[in-house]
Amino acid sequence: MITVAEHALPGLRDRLLWHEVRTPADIADATGAEGGAVPFPALAAAGGRLLHPSNSTRVPGLFTVGGWAHPGGGLPHAGMSGALVAGLIVEGPDFRGSR
Ligand SMILES: Cc1cc2nc3c(=O)[nH]c(=O)nc-3n(C[C@H](O)[C@H](O)[C@H](O)COP(=O)(O)OP(=O)(O)OC[C@H]3O[C@@H](n4cnc5c(N)ncnc54)[C@H](O)[C@@H]3O)c2cc1C
Repeated sequence: MITVAEHALPGLRDRLLWHEVRTPADIADATGAEGGAVPFPALAAAGGRLLHPSNSTRVPGLFTVGGWAHPGGGLPHAGMSGALVAGLIVEGPDFRGSR
């Protein structure tokens, strides 16, 4: 990465005071996240290909919650998915968020 970044910023390597290499295996060791995977946020582009699956599933009463479900990764989004599912459970399948 440093070599590639040096194309944009010549001499970068000599200017670094320190750096640390953290692989997905390091993340897995430190956090317990399977495969070192960090859930990515949902991005509204590319024809919806970067969105996470919806919170409701084909199985009635089964919902998905957390960083790998809609609206995506990150603590705020993981919490938001819980709020969305609570709404789906309490108000039913037409729930579209707070109004
Ligand atoms: C290194 C790292 C840095 C991050 N930094 C940020 C950041 O700065 N800001 C940010 O917003 N997000 C950050 N995230 C992302 C954020 O932590 C996750 O997106 C979020 O925690 C996902 O929430 P979750 O509830 O889906 O999963 P988790 O937080 O992983 O929670 C899953 C829970 O389920 C429990 N569990 C698993 N299996 C079972 C089982 N069989 N029975 C009972 N319990 C079980 C686990 O112990 C865990 O407590 C970071 C993630 C990582 C790995």
